[in-house]
Amino acid sequence: MTDPVTLTADLLRCPSVTPVEAGAISLLESLLSGAGFTCHRTDRNGIANLHARYGTAGPVFGFNGHTDVVPPGENWTVDPFGAEIRDGKIWGRGAADMKSGVAAFACAAIDYVKENPQLPGSIAILITGDEEGDARDGTVAILDWMAAQGETLDCCIVGEPTCPDFMGQMMKVGRRGSMTLYLTATGSQGHAAYPHRARNPLPPLIGFLDHLAQWTLDGGTDQFDPSTLAITTVDVGNPANNVIPGEAKATVNIRFNDAHSSASLTEAIKTVLAGYQIEGVTVSMDIKVSGESFVTAPGEFTRLVSDAIQAETGVTPEHSTSGGTSDARFIRKICPVVEFGLVGQTMHKADEHVAVADIHALKSVYHRIMGAYFTR
Ligand SMILES: [Zn+2]
Repeated sequence: MTDPVTLTADLLRCPSVTPVEAGAISLLESLLSGAGFTCHRTDRNGIANLHARYGTAGPVFGFNGHTDVVPPGENWTVDPFGAEIRDGKIWGRGAADMKSGVAAFACAAIDYVKENPQLPGSIAILITGDEEGDARDGTVAILDWMAAQGETLDCCIVGEPTCPDFMGQMMKVGRRGSMTLYLTATGSQGHAAYPHRARNPLPPLIGFLDHLAQWTLDGGTDQFDPSTLAITTVDVGNPANNVIPGEAKATVNIRFNDAHSSASLTEAIKTVLAGYQIEGVTVSMDIKVSGESFVTAPGEFTRLVSDAIQAETGVTPEHSTSGGTSDARFIRKICPVVEFGLVGQTMHKADEHVAVADIHALKSVYHRIMGAYFTR
């Protein structure tokens, strides 16, 4: 038996803060090679990535995860890279998000191919070191390499922590889309006592932001919560009370459901913005789209995952589309994708930890999913 807690601990001791690999991907590469997986490093622009495949036939069952972590930050009571085990929990940066998830599926897959060396298909494991960063050279680089090699997936589990409070509570079958507006209002600077001689960029910018803040994008859809919009910063940087500034900036983040696309929202926002242009002030807008919304339709794959979670944990998981973006937004372009992993309560926080028992349970869930998939 391959112990997922030992592997989690080994991975936690690698200080792999994005974009540093710190030995985490290499460790998995040698472990999976030793278990009969054909490994390819698909590193790009200094980011380490791994594609590991067992078997040559189809269908290809996929797992995806990341070994990079966010910086530890302040106020830890344990060593963030010490992998301490105490009170039935394992502690460290990446314990929840998501070295334990990677360890659980790597160990489950190794056991499964040991027990079923002639499995009717293949298992492919995609591990990246760039999920917490820009995600430009991570899973996307693996998928680019796969496309060039004629490699594909028929379904994929992403092992991100999906359970809010307890193991088995939630799997994710989709995600909202995300886009960010970068606004710059440019007028002309002047004395506050002579506003007619200046062009203050603030009133049109504030008017536009106020319009956005009061805008109800939708009331939610069959599979999604309502879309949301947040003004995240307004920057003028003006230290003087007697100067009208020449420029002001603001940033707005939008999380949108399947009632919209980034293109339809862009159109709607441009129309609103046109109403706030005044003479002498230009409000310009750059838009960055991080991902469109998507949902994996209920069917054989979602049922198989759901049943395995129920069988191993005794909990019927909620099928959710909540939360931010993940690498599932890239994988869904080639196959149905479902996310399931541990309790994410402490992810990105100080003293990140997960229950040791949950890591074992997660490995069992993954093992059961492969069993059900290959014996359909
Ligand atoms: Zn993550």
